[in-house]
Amino acid sequence: RLRKIVRYCYEKIPVYKRKFKDAGITPDDVKTLDDLEKIPFTTKEDLRKAYPFGMLATGLSEVLELHASSGTTGHPTTCAYTKNDLDVWSKVMARIYASAGTRKGDIVHNAYGYGLFTGGLGFHYGALAVGATVLPIAAGNTERQIKLAKEYGTTILACTPSYAAHLGEYAREKMGINPVEELKWKSGLFGAEAWSEELRRRIEELLGLEAFDIYGLSEVIGPGVSVECPQHDGLHIFEDHFIPEIIDPETGEKLEEGKTGELVLTTLTREATPVLRFRTGDITSFKTEECSCGRTMGKMSRILGRADDMFKVRGVKIWPSTVEHALLRVEGASQNYQIILERPGNLDIMTVKVEPEKELFESVGGDLSKLQDLRVKIEESIRTVTGIKGNIMLVPYNTLPRFEGKAKRLEDLREKTF
Ligand SMILES: [Zn+2]
Repeated sequence: RLRKIVRYCYEKIPVYKRKFKDAGITPDDVKTLDDLEKIPFTTKEDLRKAYPFGMLATGLSEVLELHASSGTTGHPTTCAYTKNDLDVWSKVMARIYASAGTRKGDIVHNAYGYGLFTGGLGFHYGALAVGATVLPIAAGNTERQIKLAKEYGTTILACTPSYAAHLGEYAREKMGINPVEELKWKSGLFGAEAWSEELRRRIEELLGLEAFDIYGLSEVIGPGVSVECPQHDGLHIFEDHFIPEIIDPETGEKLEEGKTGELVLTTLTREATPVLRFRTGDITSFKTEECSCGRTMGKMSRILGRADDMFKVRGVKIWPSTVEHALLRVEGASQNYQIILERPGNLDIMTVKVEPEKELFESVGGDLSKLQDLRVKIEESIRTVTGIKGNIMLVPYNTLPRFEGKAKRLEDLREKTF
């Protein structure tokens, strides 16, 4: 399959022909998995430059669906699907649902954004493929989400983890509904952002469901690259469709198994927009050991963050998810936080704004000065986990932003301070 896709990309996509030529190789040089390393990486920048149809391996008339991933800078990138690509997408998404125990009779509450973002339709197709009922509610209008969840009795929740937490808070506080008792959600499929083990525990408590981490990206297929099994110890990658590699994000060197680095993916079955060695920018590790769930596909660890979300404070590398992990170890700290980086002089300052949990905040009548203990505990935990002494600022409950899609926790003001 590898040899076939390599030749296919070379023959159908001029960008690859040129890359191979520049690297002094031909498809014949790639015979085994080990030879994969000879192929140059594909970057997001390559895809942007080729916009709109430079990475298309088929005729446009073969394409049944087009998605454009948002470009924060410059052009978006095009992700196209042939009939076969849509079938593969449905199949891998069906595996994701199956891993979380979804079957005919379940009602999928799909709160991922529909539209050009691949989350909504990916989860939609997967739900249809397992024969479940799908409620295409999309993101937004939290009040209606809870109302319909209750009245229709939706059983599987699909959205970003930060939105899941928000749904739980909102139901309890604004609507007086306890999701654990009054909603029927049994599993949640949460992805599209890096989140911590502690946030999982909180979401499970808040919503009374079993939370599954899922991973994917539009440049490769959309959601549908990997999913946790019920062991909740890593995400099985669907290696029959995607070959994973882990590289050092700085040198590009391939790392040995188990080491943490940037995930690189090669698609084995994509027809319209296949990619060879695509640099995902996501930081994780990969292991092929056998899993007690019986699945033989290798597992990646939960995503630590994006290579470009990683920030350095006084030379120490930190991801927002590491701060979240440190924060949520402390009882009384809520999952609502924001990290602000500043450099007033020559020294980096990391400020973490945190809301105390609602009950705690109310128990002191909103007087944050009475929560010195909590502030000190958070400060200690962050110093222990990250090695950096942060400036912890408790803020009143419900004053930090809530997110319906991907959460934005980090604000780096350092460039502007010059
Ligand atoms: Zn497993």
